Amino acid sequence: MVRLSLTPNALQILEERYLLRDPDGKVMETPEEMFRRVSEWIAGTERNNREYWEARFFRMMNNLEFLPNSPTLMNAGLPGGQLSACFVLPVEDSLDAIFTSLKNAALIHQSGGGTGYNFSRLRPKGALVSTSKGFSSGPVAFMKIYDAATEHVKQGGKRRGANMGILNVDHPDIEEFISVKTDRVSLRNFNISVGITDRFMAAVEKDLSWGLKDPRTGRAVRNIPAKKLWDQITGTAWATGDPGLIFLDSINRDNPTPGLGEIRSTNPCGEVPLLDYESCNLGSVNLSKMVTAHGGNYEIDFNRLAETVHAAIRFLDNVIHANHYLLPQIKSISLKNRKIGLGLMGWAELLMLMEIPYASTGAVKLAEKLMAFVRKESYKASASLAEERGCFPSWTESRFYPDQKMRNATCNSIAPTGTISVIADTSYSIEPLYALAYRRVGILGGKSQQELNKVFKTKISRMGYWSEHLENTVLQTGSIQKIQGIPEQVKNIFKTSLDIPWEFHLQHQRAFQTFTDNSVSKTINLPAEAGAGDISDVYMTAWKYGLKGITIYRDGSKEKQVLQRCNVS
Ligand code: UDP
Repeated sequence: MVRLSLTPNALQILEERYLLRDPDGKVMETPEEMFRRVSEWIAGTERNNREYWEARFFRMMNNLEFLPNSPTLMNAGLPGGQLSACFVLPVEDSLDAIFTSLKNAALIHQSGGGTGYNFSRLRPKGALVSTSKGFSSGPVAFMKIYDAATEHVKQGGKRRGANMGILNVDHPDIEEFISVKTDRVSLRNFNISVGITDRFMAAVEKDLSWGLKDPRTGRAVRNIPAKKLWDQITGTAWATGDPGLIFLDSINRDNPTPGLGEIRSTNPCGEVPLLDYESCNLGSVNLSKMVTAHGGNYEIDFNRLAETVHAAIRFLDNVIHANHYLLPQIKSISLKNRKIGLGLMGWAELLMLMEIPYASTGAVKLAEKLMAFVRKESYKASASLAEERGCFPSWTESRFYPDQKMRNATCNSIAPTGTISVIADTSYSIEPLYALAYRRVGILGGKSQQELNKVFKTKISRMGYWSEHLENTVLQTGSIQKIQGIPEQVKNIFKTSLDIPWEFHLQHQRAFQTFTDNSVSKTINLPAEAGAGDISDVYMTAWKYGLKGITIYRDGSKEKQVLQRCNVS
């Protein structure tokens, strides 16, 4: 067995927020013991071969080949341990319902989960409230209350709650919603997205008038040019990074259980569209470990990848059983659909190892091949679990029925891996490196650490371009693009987020989305000098690509450079 080797950054995060503490607050387990606690708890649901699976689960975590989402690492084995990262809660149009969901969100946040909501069912600002004969404050005002509550329920001191707030593009308060974050104070604990329909996009393209409707009656209360709304969305996103878009029709075309209802929202970072009250647990395979080396040349080890995917799908399915559900409604729908989201991290490092530039057709083609493989193996694993344990209970109402037996209504999601990639010491999710050397800022504002990407360092040395000058330049600027004497094809391999044209960011998102049944969390990075027209092009292309959502970040448009949208502090 390979000994667990963690970076100082990873150790610090684990000690601060993941390892169990005794009643006096003293850390009482090692990282290895944490992985033992998790594997024991998750394998505890096995009927046969429990020891085999415990050892298998331990090995893949301890080798940093696979990690589950943070709540599983933090809470597995604890009394009432809530293990899922992703939830969606309903927001119905009554004071009682609004505050019931707020209370439930607080409980979810306390356990380390994030919540998404669509506020479009709320009557618009100024509408009559029959009980009091007063006037409603509208969805944005209630979102601010949710935000304030989140601020005060730091998740058990471990992490701040993350929220996704959605308002549909035909809600009368949409303009107020689009600009709510421009004051840079409001909704700091929210990612916000406009819920977009294909009809709206067609209206933008044809420059038509667009009706804003009262959600209670469905009747238009006001018309505005669709293009005007579009310009407000893209202009505001240019200035602040928000709002993103979620494409409701695209999401519902892939809804595996349309009979159980329409999907209106995703979790905070967008990678899991869920029904009201549904939850999902995630995990990610570390691609930088799924390689074989021949001399200095690396190839994907598809056998190891397949084996890891199968064990990971089993692990995530077990989590559903080992989980503690905070509400009966969450338990009911989560057990009916048994959604899981297996994703990836370390994509940028894998490409560097293979010397393939991120901004290249070769990388996009490899992304398709890789994700097609991951999906195929995930589905095989879920189908074989269905043979062993039975299909998910709503299978007969799902799009899989009757041809394909499945244990899980969904299998894959590409999560941001904001923390678990730091623990595994690899690059975030499917993102390119933001810089070749940089400080990772602690999510709760803790100490930061200057780091040089290890894969970059190894590769550039092996290629014979390492020098003290190069090291100093990279530590200062994070880039090798301006260093003289390095050939273009070498520079291309080590391009970072802002050197990569948005078209390639988006093509990677599309490549992974094509083979992902849930969704893909990705930030389309743009340089500071990008214009609002560029944002419009990105958002329009995202819709044409059939993506389920889109998030951009223009360099410098937020005061603090954040690593992931949901970690805004
Ligand atoms: N999440 C959250 N709070 C956070 C970070 C994440 O609630 O501070 C939730 C959110 O639903 C997000 C999901 O966890 O979409 C997965 O995020 P990520 O992959 O970054 O989590 P990790 O497991 O790496 O902590």
